Amino acid sequence: MKLSLRGVAKSYPGRRGGTVALCPLDMDAREGEFISLVGPSGCGKSTLLHIVAGLEPATAGTVDLDGERVLGPGVEIGLMFQQQTLFPWLSVRENVRFPLTLARARARAGAGARDQQAARVDSLLRLVGLWDFRDSLPAELSGGMQQRAALARALVGQPEVLLMDEPFGALDAQTREDMQELLLHLIQHHRITTLFVTHDVDEALLLSDRVVVFSERPGQVLASLDVTFARQARSAELKLDEAFLHQKREILALLRGRARTGAQRDRLLFGLTNTPLEGGS
Ligand code: ADP
Repeated sequence: MKLSLRGVAKSYPGRRGGTVALCPLDMDAREGEFISLVGPSGCGKSTLLHIVAGLEPATAGTVDLDGERVLGPGVEIGLMFQQQTLFPWLSVRENVRFPLTLARARARAGAGARDQQAARVDSLLRLVGLWDFRDSLPAELSGGMQQRAALARALVGQPEVLLMDEPFGALDAQTREDMQELLLHLIQHHRITTLFVTHDVDEALLLSDRVVVFSERPGQVLASLDVTFARQARSAELKLDEAFLHQKREILALLRGRARTGAQRDRLLFGLTNTPLEGGS
């Protein structure tokens, strides 16, 4: 397995016993697999990404990347969030290059690799359509362009794993579709293992190999569903396809806690990696 989570749990201390954000959960991601995480607001999806990124310690459990424990952030894990996270005082090109200036990235690249890194920055800027804006400041870009820069920055360290937390959530519908297409194009070429948090079930189905549905807080894995239609067929028109709508209904039923017990529920919960909550009725 590329990425293995075992018994990962998180509680935040606070008054009245604090907050249990995540129940102990297990999750695996294969090399190149694109997994969307969907679930009610506040169920611990962002917390989980922060733990996988090594930005936040888990209260219990372990995260392994290629069999090695993740103990802190590094370029092997690329990050992209909904909020504008570019440095406002750096140009687009400097922002994209920024992760490579960190010590661990330099050590990983080794001597003599700087030219290759500069070429990589420029090639990513072209790939995401920002070459003409390479010397602009983030404030001079539209929201979509800023997220394209953030995507290039997330990819510049040639990460093994990409963690994305509602990266297109603040974009208008058309820009969002453009970004989804760009992301599909990039992940098909690079086959980076991706965990992608979204509220949008359509987006999850268009992009993913697998959709993991979380319960309400404290978050548990309620179900894990393989996306059944071919990736080549994925485009805006697919949203009208009967197979697409069928999977969408399944996920929405789980999110609304309406999955039936018995045969139908068993069918929905294939790939289950954790004890389901009492979500059915
Ligand atoms: P989601 O991403 O699914 O919306 P989060 O992971 O952001 O959920 O939050 C899960 C729960 O943990 C929420 O109840 C939230 O209030 C709580 N939480 C998140 N971060 C912190 C923190 N730094 N301190 C205390 N509680 C937190």
